[in-house]
Amino acid sequence: MAAIVFNGVTKRYDDGQLAVNALDLEIADGEFLVLVGPSGCGKSTALRMIAGLEEISDGDLIIDGTVANDLAPRDRNIAMVFQSYALYPHLTVAENIAFGLKVRGEDKEKIRKKVAETAELLELSEYLGRKPGKLSGGQRQRVAMGRALVRSPKAYLMDEPLSNLDARLRGQMRAEIARLQKMTGVTTVYVTHDQVEAMTMGDRVAVMNKGVLQQLAGPRTLYDAP
Ligand code: ADP
Ligand code: ADP
Repeated sequence: MAAIVFNGVTKRYDDGQLAVNALDLEIADGEFLVLVGPSGCGKSTALRMIAGLEEISDGDLIIDGTVANDLAPRDRNIAMVFQSYALYPHLTVAENIAFGLKVRGEDKEKIRKKVAETAELLELSEYLGRKPGKLSGGQRQRVAMGRALVRSPKAYLMDEPLSNLDARLRGQMRAEIARLQKMTGVTTVYVTHDQVEAMTMGDRVAVMNKGVLQQLAGPRTLYDAP
């Protein structure tokens, strides 16, 4: 089943800027889709519409079989990660992972169980008592993902998450994110302008240009066409 469907979705900003133009795109359950294209082509806008952070001007956005156009962000259960992971440095790994559940007022026993499960899945069990400053980049990446996954989101959205990193760490993180996505099976949409990330990370690559979907293909077949 498709987890997320863009059905002729258009976004026109108040100043008249046409950011996304009649986008048709189906993202399968469990898929890792990379959304790539030059700066200003509408990638972030498309991602933000999934999260409910931008209103849709026209068309339908369907999440899990339901038209979600007017759903508030908090009612979508979509996790979004931005450039900096912004872990809380003064909290332990366990507290960082537990944070979203605590804010929602879940009961202690449920939180403990979910934190343990999530840490196990992400191979973080032995680091639960550590602060982020004592972790490697890859471990921090996993804590950030754990913080989102602990709430069992319908999808995991990433907007240029590696752009602040140096080249070596970026290479490691690409592989790590792809590995974690396969391990967790969470439907993932990953926005980047980086061709290498597009070619190496996802199940499929959607190429956008000027608000329009130009190409949709597996990473290997992409750009092979004459
Ligand atoms: P990308 O993520 O591919 O760089 P964006 O989705 O951020 O592209 O932007 C797409 C287009 O919409 C660009 O022309 C950008 O300038 C414009 N845009 C983005 N956000 C806004 C906004 N809040 N108001 C007006 N125009 C915007
Ligand atoms: P504190 O006890 O100060 O809240 P902890 O770091 O011990 O801070 O725990 C934060 C949250 O994570 C708590 O809700 C706790 O239930 C959970 N937690 C802590 N350690 C574990 C663990 N080893 N396994 C599962 N959950 C844990």
